[in-house]
Amino acid sequence: MDCIFCKIINKEIPSKIVYEDERVLAILDISQATYGHTLVMPKTHAKNIYEIKEDDYLYLMKIVKMLAIKIKNNLNAKGINIINNNDIGAGQSVMHYHVHIVPRYDNDDFKIKNIDHSKDYNLDEVLNKINNKKES
Ligand code: AMP
Ligand code: ZN
Repeated sequence: MDCIFCKIINKEIPSKIVYEDERVLAILDISQATYGHTLVMPKTHAKNIYEIKEDDYLYLMKIVKMLAIKIKNNLNAKGINIINNNDIGAGQSVMHYHVHIVPRYDNDDFKIKNIDHSKDYNLDEVLNKINNKKES
């Protein structure tokens, strides 16, 4: 399969391994958006959150939690963002499921834009749509 992360998992492409076991690989992200930016991926290929087996997902998230704490403590980060992009529309560029662990520091240049649109949307309509209910 022509998947760059599968190639990394199979050691066909080199990477800086942060953690490895029989089910999960964590590597330093090549872009290092912040110091210690890490990617955690399942060894079994799955494209995204919709495809990954629940069992693989739950196990992976256990490792994400363990590594987030280790990275925060050992790199002396001020905080940690956990990010996972699904689909090109959400910024996914590598189609093998992965979670970004992004340690945060004073004056780093990492941005998550969050604009308050609460006044623009009808929240009851949103709830009804999510739950596939007819509007009351
Ligand atoms: P996403 O945009 O969520 O799909 O994230 C893909 C991430 O993979 C990006 O942050 C890239 O910097 C990273 N990446 C791509 N190729 C490699 C590679 N060979 N080694 C490590 N990280 C990579
Ligand atoms: Zn893959």
